[in-house]
Amino acid sequence: MLDRRRFAGSMAAFAATTLSRWRASAAVTNALPSRKEFVLRNAYVMTMDPELGDIAGGDVHIKDGVIAAVGKALKAPGAAVVDGERMIVLPGLVDTHWHMWNTLLRSFAGERADQGYFPLTTAFGRIMTPDDMYHGARLAAAEALHSGITTVHDFCHNARSRAHAEADIRALQEAGLRARWSYGWPQGLADTQISNMADVEGLHRDWASFSNGGLLSMGFAWRGMFRNTALPPEVYRPEFERARRLGIPISAHVGSSEEAKGQIAAHAKENLLGKDVQIVHGLSASPAEMEMLAKAGSPVSVSPGTEMRIGYGFPKVGEFLAAGVCVGISVDNTVLSGDANLFGLLKTTRNVENAKSHDEFKMSARRALELGTIEGARSLGMENRVGSLKPGKRADVIMISTQHLNMGVFTDPAHMLIESAEAENVDTVIVDGRVLKRGGRLTSLSMNRVLEDAVASLDAMRKRANSR
Ligand SMILES: [Zn+2]
Repeated sequence: MLDRRRFAGSMAAFAATTLSRWRASAAVTNALPSRKEFVLRNAYVMTMDPELGDIAGGDVHIKDGVIAAVGKALKAPGAAVVDGERMIVLPGLVDTHWHMWNTLLRSFAGERADQGYFPLTTAFGRIMTPDDMYHGARLAAAEALHSGITTVHDFCHNARSRAHAEADIRALQEAGLRARWSYGWPQGLADTQISNMADVEGLHRDWASFSNGGLLSMGFAWRGMFRNTALPPEVYRPEFERARRLGIPISAHVGSSEEAKGQIAAHAKENLLGKDVQIVHGLSASPAEMEMLAKAGSPVSVSPGTEMRIGYGFPKVGEFLAAGVCVGISVDNTVLSGDANLFGLLKTTRNVENAKSHDEFKMSARRALELGTIEGARSLGMENRVGSLKPGKRADVIMISTQHLNMGVFTDPAHMLIESAEAENVDTVIVDGRVLKRGGRLTSLSMNRVLEDAVASLDAMRKRANSR
């Protein structure tokens, strides 16, 4: 009897787990395109790998989601051929911090203090439903794929409930993007209140049902020691410690503006840095603090578009790199930056470095491209899987057409990508061996559906905001 009851109990537990897995997967409404074997032929291949270098008239053979070979005139019998004539082939771009949910509020930040980024995103963040989160993140995911970003770090700092979190994750699953998804506090949470760490632990426990076959990993979006005010230790310490106990990477905005001095040193003093702790912005970093980051191994995510737009100051990419800090570039948000064209952000990154140093040759176009590919991957701890085109790595590959009026000729490919490329030039996007954009069109998502739903979601949110 006892055994039977025990058996019944374990069957019920099994059913519950299976059901929750089934629910999570059933919630994904579209099927991703299957992985096929194909070869990109006769393109200008930029592997971003120091040994393989560039290959003019090169091929990339992709099989079972993996880069099988890179070279010239590859033998790939049975593989479908994709013509790479007048195309540049590059590893997929890597974004290192993006609040994808608030893409629903694109270009929303206005011209007065009460219409600035923080008051608006807080006010609208508070009234967002799980569906709004989904539509915001899906618009962002679609734009990412459209513009050649194959890996994102979705810093989801509006996880108001488990349903909000799951809706945001579902948008990434359906898009087929590779991502780190970081659980973050709900907008408007008081600085004296602790984040819902039980939810973090619950999601972490169930992560296998969200990982989309290994495409998605989990992180923790932490407020750090400072947010609107200095947070009390009984808030920031348990949050940090519980996330670290799970072994997941932690991210925080620290020393965001040039005025926020001493914040990095404060984190270093309390041992709150490390290879697993990504620092966002870090614009107030002094030379001594840069050394602290390098010593601890903390990567920094720099978002030149938003840092300048909001008036934080000039990005410090050159200084971080010179100090030996690992740097990734990020979109951050489109509320301030408008679009998510990472090529444009890399262009800005390089131009700021040249301007600051009064030197035409300070940062090369190729160095800027590294920041958007292999260095971004390194800063997320993914450099062994993606970030360069090397046999054995996962097949995250993009192909950029030069047959557009903003290109039109073929000169130095690194310069063309950094100085000219726009989302519309991105012809083909492959993530984990799946073709998610081909001939300039998305394959996993319906662009019309994404746009219609986003408009409807924002309309409804505005009505709710006005009726309050
Ligand atoms: Zn941010």
